[in-house]
Amino acid sequence: MNSIYYDFWGNIIKHNNILIGIHEHPDGDCIGSALAIQRVLKKQFGKKATIYSPESIPSCTKFLTGVNNILIKEKPDDYDLLLLVDVNTVKRTGIPQSMLCENIYCIDHHERGSITYPNEIIIPEASSTCEIIYNLLIANECPIDKVCAEYLLTGIICDTGDYAHTNTNEKVFLISSELTKIGANPTKINKFYFNEKSFKSLKLVGYVLNNLLSFERGKLILGYVDYNYLSKNKRYGIDSDTINGQLQSIKGYKLSVFLRELEPNVVRVSLRSPDKVDCNLIAKEFGGGGHKNAAGCTIKEPLNKAIELIVNAGKKHL
Ligand code: 5GP
Ligand code: MN
Repeated sequence: MNSIYYDFWGNIIKHNNILIGIHEHPDGDCIGSALAIQRVLKKQFGKKATIYSPESIPSCTKFLTGVNNILIKEKPDDYDLLLLVDVNTVKRTGIPQSMLCENIYCIDHHERGSITYPNEIIIPEASSTCEIIYNLLIANECPIDKVCAEYLLTGIICDTGDYAHTNTNEKVFLISSELTKIGANPTKINKFYFNEKSFKSLKLVGYVLNNLLSFERGKLILGYVDYNYLSKNKRYGIDSDTINGQLQSIKGYKLSVFLRELEPNVVRVSLRSPDKVDCNLIAKEFGGGGHKNAAGCTIKEPLNKAIELIVNAGKKHL
């Protein structure tokens, strides 16, 4: 395993100007991963490293040092390597075709899509991309300072749902323990990442719960928020993690689905399952992807039609 990490890192540091791409709807794992890699490349190797985001940064990650320097849909300077983190296809980074370079590397823990890159580390068993980056840095003897430890622990806490999801295991605790020893503070991360909600975002949770639907005697739970509501409450954002968490607290469910009608006829779908149901397979039917227990896709249909399509697809997997 370590030789993969040496080769991958050795190839990265041959480049001087690196653009780091993260996925749409950025979360703590892709942002933590990108900031950690950026910090090491800049501080320890004197490289130019820039992060590009296709969307604004969620407020729950604003406590992370340097997060405000991420380019939001802004044209980066010329670069000679594009490094994808927590995403395995350029399509989901939002980087326009005209801005792409030839060299693309990838480090990710999502299930593999149809595209492969000559230089990639894809480990779907890893809890998070931050876990892989921790192992990459340790294998290459790159020192991890307190700020970097905070980035990495944020990704782990985000993707394990604060050590609750099925990807929580012994390795996760061992790495978290090391990062805490360096100075990352799990209580602080939990507070900022999960517990700094606005009044309006909690009202949105109430709105979704009020309209909750149940199918197949409670095995499939579905929440949605329509364009009309979202367009009136746009600037408060959508707290999908809190809503997904609420849907997942129901006894006996096998699949939970949360739909957001972002634009008329554009519906974002979040799928979660506690164990056997493969969300990735369902999301793939609609051109999306993710992991077995958490995946997503976009359905370009009116909300009612999207609900019908996803419920029918979901029922087949229960
Ligand atoms: P969420 O429901 O939080 O948006 O996403 C759950 C997981 O699935 C995340 O790891 C996310 O990166 C992944 N995911 C969400 N939407 C898509 C998509 O359209 N395509 C792919 N490949 N992965 C997705
Ligand atoms: Mn992730």
